[in-house]
Amino acid sequence: MIPSTVPPKYKITIDHDKCILCGRCAKECAWDAIRKSKDKIITYDNRCGSCFRCASMCPRDAITIIENPSQGRKHPVWTPEARQDVLNQANSGCILLSGMGNAKDYPIYYDNIVLDACQVTNPSIDPLREPMELRTYIGSKPEKLEFEYVEEEIDGKKVKKSKLKTKIAPNLKLDTPIMIGHMSYGAISLNSHKAMAKAVKRCGTFMGTGEGGLHRDLYEYSDNIITQVASGRFGVNSEYLSKGAAIEIKIGQGAKPGIGGHLPGEKVSAEVSMTRMIPEGSDAISPAPHHDIYSIEDLAQLVRSLKEATRWKLPVFVKISAVHNVAAIANGIATSDADAVVIDGFKGGTGAAPKVFRDNVGIPIEVAISAVDDRLREQGNRNKVSIIASGGIRNSADVFKSIALGADAVYIGTAAMIAMGCTVCGRCYGGKCCWGIATQRADLVERLEIEEAADRVSNLIGAWTHEIKELLGAAGINSIESLRGNRDRLRGIGLNEVELKALGLKQAGL
Ligand code: SF4
Ligand code: SF4
Repeated sequence: MIPSTVPPKYKITIDHDKCILCGRCAKECAWDAIRKSKDKIITYDNRCGSCFRCASMCPRDAITIIENPSQGRKHPVWTPEARQDVLNQANSGCILLSGMGNAKDYPIYYDNIVLDACQVTNPSIDPLREPMELRTYIGSKPEKLEFEYVEEEIDGKKVKKSKLKTKIAPNLKLDTPIMIGHMSYGAISLNSHKAMAKAVKRCGTFMGTGEGGLHRDLYEYSDNIITQVASGRFGVNSEYLSKGAAIEIKIGQGAKPGIGGHLPGEKVSAEVSMTRMIPEGSDAISPAPHHDIYSIEDLAQLVRSLKEATRWKLPVFVKISAVHNVAAIANGIATSDADAVVIDGFKGGTGAAPKVFRDNVGIPIEVAISAVDDRLREQGNRNKVSIIASGGIRNSADVFKSIALGADAVYIGTAAMIAMGCTVCGRCYGGKCCWGIATQRADLVERLEIEEAADRVSNLIGAWTHEIKELLGAAGINSIESLRGNRDRLRGIGLNEVELKALGLKQAGL
């Protein structure tokens, strides 16, 4: 056998002067990267993914994990990662799996966009004194409102009253434009789902189930849940559909455009198997396409079937990955009776995706929002659907910029997980998340304390909401509605002409 010629990526160092040999680190590491023998701690650097659980739990602060400085011969093309990937595939002959979002150093356009603020002649608004309207309605809006006059008798007198004649489509009412996107039960633990459900309920917003069905323990949060129907149809039946406030059809995902989902069998526990309605321990692989959708007309049929199944009371969203022709596809979706289009950019997270897809396929969410908003306006379809943006939204400024580029609201995913303790180690597909998030191992799941995690996620959404109000006030705007698609409030910095055009922005200073 050819020995590994690439040194381990991380190095675990124990400060033996500080270590009291309590063995906590060995118990905490689910990857067996640390073991305790009788009188010493033994480390296995090649098993470490730098999830940082051991170092965080060490009572003596005796553990340091660093990127291994000894990376062999340096080469600008054949980096340690490139060589490691070749070796792994030479050993296994398999597709390389990865977790979390795109890990390549592509530009993050959010960081090249700056915001406007009022000065002197256009006064800013103080959100502590003036009301700021962040309420957001997700769903189809009528082109115009029609009223009719009806006669009513009040105190014996006939009075003419106006009454809304236009039929309003069902919309989701959000107290903040921030929702939590779809992460399935199976990919993540039930404790994570419960914590996020509690958080969205407190914040007056919504979370998605992902494609893994809805565990019965979450039925009490139905009013704040968006159920998902993906190509595998896992867990989908009429009871499931009726347990949400909206339904999302997942066509694509930003982390792996063009392919379906993959939940490794190790994560299909008895409870997951019951919720997904699949055999325990079997890989849950959803097909790349929906086998009943090959055109916008087919999609429209599924949209209407789902509406019919829920008596036309729930809005139906369609989620697609951000790809080259995203604007044309989104415009087609707007004509399919769908109420919102969800665009997932290539920085979006995942529990498991082929590395080659995660790092190479799709386009950034910033340009996708701009292209979709423009196309829907050009075609007169903007009112027919809301735009929900996701994939790499890291802070309130990214939310603000997304809305100014043209989105109605955003989904966050990784940020909510980080709030619960995720260290973005990227090994979610392995099923051994030491933080109790991306795992189904009972001993690991119980590490995630539901109430504490719920507090942290709701704190995060609350803090971002607060910051958005401050940013709006500084821009002299008192309603999120007035920010939507208001790209004049943005400027590009450090971008070339083509990039500015794709984003629909002016250069800073102009
Ligand atoms: S947790 Fe810290 S103190 Fe305890 S054995 Fe590990 S390194 Fe030593
Ligand atoms: S959820 Fe867990 S396994 Fe996945 S990246 Fe975060 S810490 Fe790592």
